[in-house]
Parts: sequence; structure tokens; C-alpha cells
Amino acid sequence: MGVAANKIVMKSITLLGSTGSIGTQTLDIVADHPDKFRIVGLAAGRNIELLSNQIRAFKPESVAIADPSQLDTLRGAIADVVPQPILVTGEAGIVEVAAYGDAQAVVTGIVGCAGLLPTIAAIKAGKEIALANKETLIAGGPVVLPLVAKHGVKLLPADSEHSAIFQCLQGVPEGGLKRIILTASGGAFRDWPVERLAEVTVADALKHPNWSMGRKITVDSATLMNKGLEVIEAHYLFGVDYDHIDIVIHPQSIIHSLIEVQDTSVLAQLGWPDMRLPLLYALSWPERIATNWEPLDLVKSGDLTFRQPNHEKYPCMQLAYAAGRAGGCLPAVLNAANEQAVALFLEEKIAFLEIPKVIEMACDRFSSQNTAQPTLEDILGADQWARNAVLEISESSPKTVSLSL
Ligand code: MG
Repeated sequence: MGVAANKIVMKSITLLGSTGSIGTQTLDIVADHPDKFRIVGLAAGRNIELLSNQIRAFKPESVAIADPSQLDTLRGAIADVVPQPILVTGEAGIVEVAAYGDAQAVVTGIVGCAGLLPTIAAIKAGKEIALANKETLIAGGPVVLPLVAKHGVKLLPADSEHSAIFQCLQGVPEGGLKRIILTASGGAFRDWPVERLAEVTVADALKHPNWSMGRKITVDSATLMNKGLEVIEAHYLFGVDYDHIDIVIHPQSIIHSLIEVQDTSVLAQLGWPDMRLPLLYALSWPERIATNWEPLDLVKSGDLTFRQPNHEKYPCMQLAYAAGRAGGCLPAVLNAANEQAVALFLEEKIAFLEIPKVIEMACDRFSSQNTAQPTLEDILGADQWARNAVLEISESSPKTVSLSL
């Protein structure tokens, strides 16, 4: 197995988060190209039915299930599968699968900061990372980047915007990049007046106009925190300072992002909004694999429009720039506070407009204890601190806004 003469002969892949949106789309790609990719390991949360179907179809050597109480059910569901995969459970099990065997690449499709430790384990095992979990880099950037350099592994972006930037950068010489322009769809409420945001329900927030994604990221798109997090992700991935990363609203989601190079030339990557393309490129780089996907038709896609992001309507963007500029553990605090706030919103315990408020309060409270060069322990500690802080803030604050739920 391996890459010969710069062509993909057969790439072995481990997939973390196999039953989620990223995971199922990655497996569609693997199923379409059985001559190019094979699955070595799978890790999932608790969807036994889907996971057992995946085990049957892709015959992984090693499988982790996050919820240990489901192990016997899983064992029963795949009793007739030959050969039987090694089954492991819990966080430690996911870490084990991430580092397991001869997988060359690990696709990190686990949602949230839970992806950090498995990704670190994969890097230490010398695996290439197809980064579909942005939180890993946002929270763990100060620890993950030196590890990537130390182990000489490739970190290939699978987020659509960062894949676009990465694609535009192919052939741009060192020092040629001047500015990054991230495009944002504007999320579920882009056409709502700011006054109506107080009435937003969970169902409203889960209706994304262009992309089909998991629940957490769809809410992040509605608050535009997703774009703010992507600014931090772009900073870590491409080494560009925050003054040279801009956001523009592009409702059609056809241009997935752009770069400006030193001579002011602007390069863009275009396509239908379909996560499979950035996932495929992260797995096939530097090759281009032929697909039967619908080609982009510029006449059919119609007018491409752009507008300035409204920072009053979407305060999460500015919170993310501020946390990114502060550096150290603050991006981890921002990220964890956001994860906790979104979870509370999805449980209907806080209102939509309280999401940025509780995040801002958590970041403010933390800032005096921030450290410039955090260790992994500092980052994990800050993550836990921020989750507790958001729970405490949401329990102690008067539920003036929540009454409208
Ligand atoms: Mg994205």
C-alpha cells in the first residue's frame, strides 16, 4: 500500500465520527472509489444501526464506539461479520482507533473539542490528517501545530472554505499570499430583520439555506460563529494574521472562498455547495480524481452577490476575532463556551440571542488568566472551565430573553 509515482494506488483511511454528516459523506466517496480508498478504522458515537451497516459494508479492522453501554448491542448486530473487527469503547477507544494500524490518513469528523485528543494521537502515529473538525485546531492550535511540524505529517483542510483557500494556494510561491477572503452564506437568518432574532426557535435555527450539515454547525452558521471559528482556523492553517482575513456574505455559496496574492490578483474556488468535494480533495491531494458529480453551471447558478457582514446582527464574528487576536487559551475558551451555549440553545434552555452574550461573559472572565504558550493541559483545563462558566452564567442570569421560547 502507498503512494507511488505521485498517483494514489490505494489509500488506507480511518474515519472518526463515521455516522455523522462528514462520516457518511466520506464513506460515499470510499464506496464510489473502491480502487483508491479502503477503510481501516471507524469511530462513532452511539448510532449502532448505522455503524453496524458501515462495518458490514467496509470491513474495518478496528472500531470504536463512544458509549460503552452499547458495546454488547454492537457485538450482537455484527455477530455474522467475517472477519470480526477489534471493538473498543469510550474516549480511550477512539484515541486507540485514531492511531491504529497502517491507516495513512485519518478523517476527523467528530464534532467539537472531543476531536482534539484522537487527532493528537493520529498525528503522533504519523497519520496524515484530513481536518473536518475545525475545533481541533481552533482550541488546540498552539499544541497541534508544533506536533504536526515535529512528526512531519500533513494537515489537509476538509472544511469547504479552507479547502478553497488551499486549492487556490496550489502554485502560489512562499510569501505570495497577502489576504484571505472567507465567504459566508449568512446562515438561516440572513434575510431576517435583527428585531425578529429574539423569537428564533430551535427549528428555525436548524434550517440552513444551502448546506446540509449536523445540528451544531447549522446553529453556528445561523449565529455566524461558524465563520468566526473559521477565521481562527484559517489563521492557524495558513499563518495569516487577523488583519488580513476578511469575511464577505455570499448568499449563493458558489464561491467557497478567495485569496488575494501580493500583486492584487484574486483567486477563487467555485462549485456547488457539496461537502464531498473538499473531503475528496483532502483525501486525494495533490491528485485530482474524476467523479460523476454534477458539474458547476454558471448560468444555472445565476447571479453571484456579495454583502458586508452585519456585526450588530452577528456579534459572534467579532468575539471570534477578539479571541483569535488574544491567542493562547482564549480560542479554546471561545470554542468551548460556544459548544456549551449551542447545546443549551438546542435543549431550549437559553434563547438564540443569549448565545453570544454567555460566550462574551465567559471570554471576559477568563482573559485575566490567559497564557501565551499553553500546554495541552492548559487547553483542556480552559475548555472545561469555559463549559462550567457558561452553565453557571446561564443558571444565574435572569431568563428575560428565554421567556419568548
Ligand atoms: Mg465551512
